[in-house]
Amino acid sequence: MYLTITTTHQPATDLGYLLHKNPFKTQTFSQSFGKTHVFYTEAQVKRCTAVLLLDIDPIGLVRRVGSGSDFALEQYVNDRPYVASSFLSVALGDVLRSAIAGRSTERQELAETAIPLEATIGVLPSRGGEEFLRRLFEPLGYETKVKKLPLDEQFPEWGESRYFKVTLRKTCLLKDLLTHLYVLIPVLDNGKHYWVGEEEVDKLLRHGEGWLSAHPEKEQITRRYLKHARNLAHNALTRLSENEDEQIDEFIDSGLPKVERERSLEEKLSLNEIRLRQIVEIIEESTAVSVIDLGCGEGKLLSALLKIKQLNAIVGMDVSIRTLEIAKDRLNWDQLPPKQQEKLKLIHGSLLYRDSRLAGFDIATVIEVIEHLDMPRLSAFERVLFEFAKPKTIIMTTPNAEYNVRFENLPPGQFRHTDHRFEWTRAEFEDWACERAAKYGYSVEFRPVGEVDPFVGAPTQLGLFTLVEAKR
Ligand code: SAH
Repeated sequence: MYLTITTTHQPATDLGYLLHKNPFKTQTFSQSFGKTHVFYTEAQVKRCTAVLLLDIDPIGLVRRVGSGSDFALEQYVNDRPYVASSFLSVALGDVLRSAIAGRSTERQELAETAIPLEATIGVLPSRGGEEFLRRLFEPLGYETKVKKLPLDEQFPEWGESRYFKVTLRKTCLLKDLLTHLYVLIPVLDNGKHYWVGEEEVDKLLRHGEGWLSAHPEKEQITRRYLKHARNLAHNALTRLSENEDEQIDEFIDSGLPKVERERSLEEKLSLNEIRLRQIVEIIEESTAVSVIDLGCGEGKLLSALLKIKQLNAIVGMDVSIRTLEIAKDRLNWDQLPPKQQEKLKLIHGSLLYRDSRLAGFDIATVIEVIEHLDMPRLSAFERVLFEFAKPKTIIMTTPNAEYNVRFENLPPGQFRHTDHRFEWTRAEFEDWACERAAKYGYSVEFRPVGEVDPFVGAPTQLGLFTLVEAKR
């Protein structure tokens, strides 16, 4: 089993300083499961490749207690010596510890510089196949090459194995590449060999800092990394989502142009909070007594709605059970007085299916949700909302794609969030909304959310729909 790491950043041999391994020496490290050899297959100024070769001791493995398998021959016949598994992750942690931490005695500046990197993993098992493999690495920006390996090259008629040779390419910090491998290799591997305990949660969160909470597969990654130990995964996901909002706010705010950043710093308001305030104001100025928040997420709006005296029914709906659990915790629902509990309900459902529980509300809010729906499913969504739920008023917000050029740290062509399926310009949202309004008997007006830029508009766009027959 091997992993290679190549750079073409010149002088490429500086890779040796980053890995703390001399390109002109072979080094061997002993681990509980065997040995790890580190050597270089090329060490030129233009290109340098380091190899981590794991030499697993199959007899030593058998001596380890409790394989936990009911396959009697597993002791003798298993893939452990040959595939990149959690052993590789352990080896990375042992042998390249300083590099993972981003420390280099001689080249600290380089350790903090994004350089062109390529990693190849010789044999990688993937439960979930190629698709899952891609879903793990591609959102992190890796150009991912996957080759399915035959069961035996000598006997192609035996067909394909469930293993892949994977090459990942990206210009990034070496530390980030190693960290992603460290976390994601065991996620792909079923046979995580070491005991998963509370300290593993800390380790996952530490190594996941800055990327895991925004990863679209964060739930799978966490569950699999913690090997489906449900309590641990629950605990980790809760802690992760606490970071997420902060990170996303921070990301959005740090990308705001200077003037607005300062203004929002002054007022200590994130775009999220500006949006929330604006929605609350619309509701307070209305005569509504019931509100349903569709795609309520972790319940930030719900908690603001609870403070509006005129409301006697508030419902939060979301497709993600995890998210609803977090909302319930955050709202402290279990501790609310019975009257408040009566007033506030959380329900599990999808905006893509007709649902009678969504009908009969004065106001429905759909805040930063539509861009999470697949575009071809919007036709199902519009009927669920405008035709069946048919609230008197709809408050809908979505990012204004034109504004993305103003986010200094958002590369062109990328969405603000990895889970967004699309982001619309003002014209695109307004066209869509006007057509829907006309079709279902609503009027609609548009309002900017956040500071309006004279060229590209505000960061968020809001559509306020009013049911015409309710107006009469
Ligand atoms: N409205 C919240 C959350 C926005 S994130 C806020 O402004 O903070 C988008 C939310 O939409 C997520 O919680 C996601 O689980 C939910 N969502 C995505 N697809 C959905 C669907 N088909 N039905 C209901 N909710 C959905």
